[in-house]
Amino acid sequence: MNCHNSCELLDRGNPGQLLLQPVWDSMRTREELALSPFFPVVFSIISYVGFCLPFVVLDVLCPSVAIVRLYKIHPDFSPSARQLLPCLGQTLYQHLVFVFPVTLLHWALSPAPLPPEAPELFQLLSHVFICLLLFDTEIFVWHVLHHKVPWLYRNFHKVHHQNTSSFALATQYMSLWELFSLTFFDVVNVALLGCHPLTVFVFHVVNIWLSVEDHSGYDFPWSTHRLVPFGWYGGVAHHDLHHSQFNCNFAPYFTHWDRLLGTLRPAPLPAWQCACGRRCSDSGRLCTKCR
Ligand SMILES: [Zn+2]
Ligand SMILES: [Zn+2]
Repeated sequence: MNCHNSCELLDRGNPGQLLLQPVWDSMRTREELALSPFFPVVFSIISYVGFCLPFVVLDVLCPSVAIVRLYKIHPDFSPSARQLLPCLGQTLYQHLVFVFPVTLLHWALSPAPLPPEAPELFQLLSHVFICLLLFDTEIFVWHVLHHKVPWLYRNFHKVHHQNTSSFALATQYMSLWELFSLTFFDVVNVALLGCHPLTVFVFHVVNIWLSVEDHSGYDFPWSTHRLVPFGWYGGVAHHDLHHSQFNCNFAPYFTHWDRLLGTLRPAPLPAWQCACGRRCSDSGRLCTKCR
């Protein structure tokens, strides 16, 4: 940050903005890279594969390491190379033939320079939260529609349901129309809210992580749905149930829409919460071991 900008910010005395300013300044030193048309595609692939990789390793270890199976929603299932490779291949192919041309077009139409000021911390967090709520709502409507109309399901959503036991690399195993819809909902909300580029960056990272976690097939004590109180967040447990039962838990992240429309179904307890097989029967929810 040059002295002029620093002095301006200090004059404003905005602690939230000052907190993020060093981060934003270091990102702006790589402005050329951030504004390159290749950056969104390369960044999206690297973060997606990077988030999937630990789960792929766990899936490889799963058949021989008992403690890994304890956290797996379907302990007897591990994706084979014949399932993993087509998923990875499709992600790379779709990013190359679809996401890259779109970002190239966006770059050519609006090569906006990065603003010198960082966003205020509270504004960044609230924008990310609002974007997640809007994204969740849009996907809920899209998802219900693509399950209730057989033609839409057959032609556009069925491919994502090819794997009834989900795994991380199956997150983006979907038709081109589904990928287009998700990408559209992903970018339209940040544009509507006029989000700062740093907020857009954080939202994309959080969104990619949450979607991978949703499909990972692992229910850990630190999984997002266990960190959010009052069952407001469904996460991996709920989305995994959607993949095996089709007619419930349509929202990707939060539970309020499914609760309101009567499509919320409680997920079974993972084996690590049901060591004796009695606790889950008492609660009326059978764990993956006792089902
Ligand atoms: Zn899914
Ligand atoms: Zn579905």
